[in-house]
Amino acid sequence: MSGNEMKYIQEAFDGNWIAPLGPNVDGFEKDLENYLGQESHVAVVSTGTAALHLALAMLGVEKDDFVICQSLTFAASANPIIYLGGIPVFVDSEKDTWNLCPIAVEEAIKVCIEKGKKPKAIITVCLYGMPYKVEEIKAISEKYNIPIIEDSAEALGSTYKGQKCGTFGDISVLSFNGNKIITTSGGGALVLKEEIYKQKAVFLSTQAKDDAPHYQHSIVGYNYRLSNICAGIGRGQMEVIDQRVAERRANHEFYKNIFKNQEGVELFTEPSEDYQSNHWLNAIIIHPEKTGNKDREFWRLAFAEENIETRPLWKPMHLQPLFDNKMYFGSNIAETLFNNGLCLPSGSNLTDDDKKRINKVIKNLLG
Ligand SMILES: *Cc1c(COP(=O)(O)O)cnc(C)c1O
Repeated sequence: MSGNEMKYIQEAFDGNWIAPLGPNVDGFEKDLENYLGQESHVAVVSTGTAALHLALAMLGVEKDDFVICQSLTFAASANPIIYLGGIPVFVDSEKDTWNLCPIAVEEAIKVCIEKGKKPKAIITVCLYGMPYKVEEIKAISEKYNIPIIEDSAEALGSTYKGQKCGTFGDISVLSFNGNKIITTSGGGALVLKEEIYKQKAVFLSTQAKDDAPHYQHSIVGYNYRLSNICAGIGRGQMEVIDQRVAERRANHEFYKNIFKNQEGVELFTEPSEDYQSNHWLNAIIIHPEKTGNKDREFWRLAFAEENIETRPLWKPMHLQPLFDNKMYFGSNIAETLFNNGLCLPSGSNLTDDDKKRINKVIKNLLG
């Protein structure tokens, strides 16, 4: 927390605005719109998962519709497809950004069309804060006229060619869950291109009540709006977003120094100046054949021994028991990243002392 959150929460109590409505909701949305630029229209909701669910509903995803989804991601990117009865079609990553491989996306689209159904949406992820290949994916989206849902749950504060992540999708999604770069305890947002789409998102997230004196409903609604209390936390957090991004990027520099010129360990970093990641999480790929046969698990356990938590990358969706029988396009890039990748401590509040402890473990492993 920044310390300023309580001021906004206090205002909510003083004004008796405890409902999913009120000045903090409007204020937080304005803060996000100003931060993102690109004439964004933001609707805040209870979670990032809820935002993805609404995004898919707004694009008309229904039973048995195909939706393309990056395989190397957190399950929340894909689960909302299932909520609507849709069929996820998983796609591999490319090596530069670890996000959607454009070649495999196009292959997946062609096969879906052959099966008689063009996919209703493409869910792209900005993994660990890294922007995806925005132009390549956009070209495919335009060629086949399939909208993009940008899952930037992990990427608030990242940019591609100077433009903020969260503004590239036809609909983009943010998360303010406790583990993300800023948090409202739980929260999420849809970023939309026009005010009427924002109105639609708000309508759907507040039970889809028609304009009538009695309770009248023509379509299915959801109870997904963010509360005025949580939005107050969000306003306090928006005051420190630049600082949080700077702290995460400083962590990345710390790891860059450790791993520079290091055989056998690759730090996940921007492929070119066009990409600027918030470095929500720092991840490495370990090549055990070049590090004395110490594999990913060996590294993880060595950290655990020193009471330092590290974690494997997200396990790809096409390898999850839940999605056992689902289509998958690409090769084994996501799988190889999963087998050899480790996320390292990356909190905004890492202290010098923490860094010394981390450094010591790594030096021992490489020694
Ligand atoms: C966290 C996360 C989500 C879900 O956000 P919640 O606010 O936790 O529901 C979706 N996609 C990705 C890639 C995430 O990391």
